[in-house]
Amino acid sequence: MANQKEIPYKIYLEEQEIPTQWYNVRADMKNKPSPLINPGTHQPMTAEELSAVFCEDLVKQELDNDNRYIDIPKEIQDFYKMYRPSPLVRAYCLEEKLGTPAKIYYKFEGNNTSGSHKLNSAIAQAYYAKKQGLKGVTTETGAGQWGTALSMACAYLGLDCKVYMVKVSYEQKPFRREVMRTYGAQVTPSPSDTTAVGRKILAEHPGTTGSLGCAISEAVEVATSTPGYRYVLGSVLNQVLLHQSVIGVETKRALDKYGITPDIIIGCAGGGSNLGGLISPFMGEKLRGEKNYRIIAVEPASCPSLTRGKFVYDFCDTGMVTPLAKMYTLGSNFIPSPNHAGGLRYHGMSPILSQLYHDGMMEAVSVEQTSVFEAAQLFARVEGILPAPESSHAIRVAIDEALKCKETGEEKTIVFGLTGTGYFDMVAYQKFNDGEMDDYIPTDEDLAVGFAGIPKFPGNEF
Ligand SMILES: *Cc1c(COP(=O)(O)O)cnc(C)c1O
Repeated sequence: MANQKEIPYKIYLEEQEIPTQWYNVRADMKNKPSPLINPGTHQPMTAEELSAVFCEDLVKQELDNDNRYIDIPKEIQDFYKMYRPSPLVRAYCLEEKLGTPAKIYYKFEGNNTSGSHKLNSAIAQAYYAKKQGLKGVTTETGAGQWGTALSMACAYLGLDCKVYMVKVSYEQKPFRREVMRTYGAQVTPSPSDTTAVGRKILAEHPGTTGSLGCAISEAVEVATSTPGYRYVLGSVLNQVLLHQSVIGVETKRALDKYGITPDIIIGCAGGGSNLGGLISPFMGEKLRGEKNYRIIAVEPASCPSLTRGKFVYDFCDTGMVTPLAKMYTLGSNFIPSPNHAGGLRYHGMSPILSQLYHDGMMEAVSVEQTSVFEAAQLFARVEGILPAPESSHAIRVAIDEALKCKETGEEKTIVFGLTGTGYFDMVAYQKFNDGEMDDYIPTDEDLAVGFAGIPKFPGNEF
């Protein structure tokens, strides 16, 4: 990297450098992600069908495979100014600790009260709901970051917000719940007896600790059966990756200021939104044949959708009330081990990232949770930030790649997404600190149970 300027610890952009357009990577994909299909007819979901569940403008964004840039409405830009641009940090202290010649940067999205990148899409989705004149929105939340982000956005815009929170998190993270309630959201542990699908799941699996898939079913049921409500989702969907492109566009702008070209870009992958957003402008260059980057998705070994899942059409939820998405999936009834503390528990993966992975445009690795928390602890001690367990998956692999550089003497530039902070994950940290954390890796037999629930129809064999 022939740059003359000294790289500061933090590369900040000016307020006027916050992106005013989202970048839609689908425009540059030759193989577009497969459309959502109707589970009854197996035909692509029409805008009209989708509008029963989602706001109209978001349906347009969901279906837009062609427009490369989409203007960010002024109101959303103004909200972004409250907590963006987010810093791109040179991890000098981590590099020194590792003794690596690699240059490590991380884009830190935890600098807002919700503690994660999810606010980038929450404000966009709440804005379009408000613009349509809706009364409120429903959603699910797992670890709670999405529910918190959405509560904040809804409070700002004066929208009602109903959150179905995965039961295990509801019980483990009472303070996360109180943050949401402080912002005015109504929070229900899922599965619950407030919906037909929740009652059915409870009858079939008494004592279940819940899953994102269950909570989605409940939130969709409430949205579609309550006038003036729509459902919003914090990850997976094309529209969410579009909103999260603000992360990647800022990252690229900051790197370009100093003439830095990354070799490796790393992100954790739950439903794929932060990774999809971070990599989008870089992936665009790669798709257009202008640059080549190694792009690595990191997922937990206990919920390994990309590395061990099937690339087929599957339901997005456990109750099988949503459209089918073509994605890497473990089956919509897959419920990760309750011992798995690190988030990233969704059974599927963004159709955009699934297609890119299928086409060989990115890599995926899975990591075990104790090694993730080891990386988290090291990072906290040298870089100061207490990372979210989800983000720590990316830290783990960034460290691994930096250590490889130490072996080979290569001065690679590594960029990773630090998606959030871990203050509400202290039960998991406590387990780790007490030496009571273990690694659970599902067996092929465990996974077969989930695969058996994938819908079978011509063209969907695996
Ligand atoms: C939700 C979340 C993730 C995972 O979701 P993606 O959609 O895969 O980005 C990662 N990190 C944090 C802090 C989160 O809140």
